[in-house]
Amino acid sequence: MAGATGTIIIGAGITGITCARALAQAGTPVRLLDKGRGIGGRMATKRVQAAGLSLHYDHGAQYIRPRDPAFAAELLAAGASVWGESDRLVGQPGMSSLPRAMADGLDVAQGVEVTGLHHAGGLWHLETSAGDHMARRVVLTIPAPQALALLGRDHPLAPELSAVQMAPCLTLMASFPADSPAPFAARLDPDHPLAWVAQDTTKPDRPKGVVTWVAQASAAFSAQHLDQSPDGILADMLPHLCALLGTAPNQSLHAQVHRWRYAQATQPLGRAFLRAAHGLYVGGDWCLGPRAEDGWASGRAMAKAILTGADAD
Ligand SMILES: Cc1cc2nc3c(=O)[nH]c(=O)nc-3n(C[C@H](O)[C@H](O)[C@H](O)COP(=O)(O)OP(=O)(O)OC[C@H]3O[C@@H](n4cnc5c(N)ncnc54)[C@H](O)[C@@H]3O)c2cc1C
Repeated sequence: MAGATGTIIIGAGITGITCARALAQAGTPVRLLDKGRGIGGRMATKRVQAAGLSLHYDHGAQYIRPRDPAFAAELLAAGASVWGESDRLVGQPGMSSLPRAMADGLDVAQGVEVTGLHHAGGLWHLETSAGDHMARRVVLTIPAPQALALLGRDHPLAPELSAVQMAPCLTLMASFPADSPAPFAARLDPDHPLAWVAQDTTKPDRPKGVVTWVAQASAAFSAQHLDQSPDGILADMLPHLCALLGTAPNQSLHAQVHRWRYAQATQPLGRAFLRAAHGLYVGGDWCLGPRAEDGWASGRAMAKAILTGADAD
């Protein structure tokens, strides 16, 4: 068992990273655990080697349109640049570069899945895929349905976690030769099976010599096809994309799908975080809304509560 840490944050997405940065800046020992191989959670970039090319896809958050100037300043300091409209910020060479830069200098353990937690003897005990950990305080920043599964349906926070609704999103990634049709940079149509389609290679500093697309299925399509096999989803989505572009599925250099089971909140909690006895905090984008900025605001609010001693129990 590893030694006890002051605060363990479960989840190294924008919420967990924001909370950790504020705690670390204030001199509070903090460690992040994340089950993923990379940092950033749903601010994600997939890298694929195919057809002799190195392909990048922003298959989670597409861009950030910050409302709070403090968030905009943090994104710009992390290397964000403008994509198309002046208020759309993206990371380069991919969205995941933003959380990675923001996590610079933090203690992050990747590939560590937390499978159970309980409080005993004045400490939190975390069971993980890489051994047990102990901490005085735990901040949980994973999607609400996953937080509910981890804490259990008899936990005091279960009723509030159960009320949060998160919608799935099926995402198609596809690349075509550089001279293939590229009729638009981005397209939004909530009534089309592919509600959002973006030409990723129009973002700054993306690999050249290829046209790369990310398409997000509509809410209705995603809910209807969620439990289909990845091959079945691909076979349904790729022809829709090709019809919009004016090309054929057999022209693609690479195509695959990603299934986000908990993509974005459709029924948020309505406040910045939840708190329970013994210094347990639960937060995430889903507390306040569907966007990365909502996660940032939740993470910031949790850090503020911790640092002002509001959890003095
Ligand atoms: C398809 C899609 C498109 C989007 N588009 C936009 C957009 O254009 N603009 C925008 O602002 N937002 C967008 N969003 C939303 C944005 O990505 C999220 O609001 C934000 O990334 C959420 O951050 P978070 O830290 O709260 O959660 P997450 O990013 O989900 O982070 C949670 C982390 O917890 C880890 N984790 C989960 N369970 C465990 C466990 N048991 N043990 C250890 N680690 C665990 C996960 O690996 C993950 O890294 C989009 C999201 C999706 C999926």
